[in-house]
Amino acid sequence: MKETYSRTKSVWQRMNKTEQKAVMTYGEAYKNFLDVARTERLATEEIIRQAEAKGFRPVYSKKTLKAGDKVYWNQKGKSVILAVIGKEPVHNGIKIVGSHIDSPRLDLKANPIHEQGGAVYARTHYYGGVKKYQWACIPLALIGLIFTKDGKKVDIQLGMKEDDPIFYISDLLPHMAQDQMKKSLAEGITGEQLQALVGLHAKDGETPCEAIMKLLKDTYGIEEEDFATAELELVPAMKSRDVGFDRSMIASYGQDDRACSFANLHAILNAKPGVKTQAALLTDKEEIGSYGNTGMESSYFVKFVMKLLALQKTPGLLEFYETMENSEMLSADVNACYDPMFPEVSEKDNASLMGFGVNLTKYGGSRGKAGSNDANAEFLQKVRHIFNAAGVCWQIGELGKVDQGGGGTIAFMMANWGAEVVDCGASMISMHAPYDLISKADVYETYLAYKAFFESK
Ligand code: MN
Ligand code: MN
Repeated sequence: MKETYSRTKSVWQRMNKTEQKAVMTYGEAYKNFLDVARTERLATEEIIRQAEAKGFRPVYSKKTLKAGDKVYWNQKGKSVILAVIGKEPVHNGIKIVGSHIDSPRLDLKANPIHEQGGAVYARTHYYGGVKKYQWACIPLALIGLIFTKDGKKVDIQLGMKEDDPIFYISDLLPHMAQDQMKKSLAEGITGEQLQALVGLHAKDGETPCEAIMKLLKDTYGIEEEDFATAELELVPAMKSRDVGFDRSMIASYGQDDRACSFANLHAILNAKPGVKTQAALLTDKEEIGSYGNTGMESSYFVKFVMKLLALQKTPGLLEFYETMENSEMLSADVNACYDPMFPEVSEKDNASLMGFGVNLTKYGGSRGKAGSNDANAEFLQKVRHIFNAAGVCWQIGELGKVDQGGGGTIAFMMANWGAEVVDCGASMISMHAPYDLISKADVYETYLAYKAFFESK
């Protein structure tokens, strides 16, 4: 029997050759997802594409629901729920794995384009928790949509292809940064300085701004006013890459939380249909507090569950709450692992270790667990048993030292409706950086964990 819990032997050391090969194969599929699903909208498209290929159909195309039926809901192109109907009625409870598909990035402001010193810039407002200085001097891709005055939708995706141009935020050269270098990391580059260079050339008698706007008009048919109603995101343009001589890790943009989201998707597509209904929730807006009608604080998940109940002829709000009381959820989000370069922020014996498996986080929150879901021992015990029985390598880890770290996930919202919830996901290094790092073995074990949970009773 495989040792599933260890703080001395890494997952790789506990694996046989076949398992090690599966880790590397999974890594390739995962990297591909990272490069395709670069924004919440692109992630939604890719998730639905993969789900439809495996037989998932829109829930509103169904007149009834029977065991084994595969349905999905697309929430405004930015969030998705996939469900596989169980042998037991939905009312008996759902096995939910809930992850998020939005990641920290730089959004263009409503009036972004302007000229300074003869160059054209796009102003941004950052989305989610970023260390602003990390976003300078890296290649940025512009992805999103913009509507013309007559209502034509223009999809923009520029910077991910090899020969695309990219966008660029400048930083000072060290020779002239004496004053800047004395500032704190938080102040070295300010929010208003996060402006991307978007153009320089102009014809004689034309300003650079006019030249760029003319180029945009000719290429996309868009005008300056159209930016006011657009949704355009600057995201790191670096493709995901293997890290290390042994290719044991992956560096990429957006692994919080495409690490858990891809594991979630892969798990529901490959899990055996269960006794209970299985649901993979892949939501937007987690990074800014789960607000908005594509975030978890909105009602789309409630409506989806109530639709399943209605299709099984047990409609009603009481039935929804009863279903949630009967439900169990892994709140699938990444955690931070112990970083030997910054040991002072973690308490090593209670931090997850890179390469030691999927992480169970009993509580998040900060300053005395404030804002935490704080999972129940009964449910933790059940999850532990599922993982051990399925040979899933797992570990425990909190987010930083007692008075140092802390953070939230979507766990508490599901718990509000009565479901048993625990945070469970891969742990990573440099979370929220433009290019973050994760262990291949950890993301693979995360997939195995979600699959085992879906298949459990
Ligand atoms: Mn995050
Ligand atoms: Mn996250």
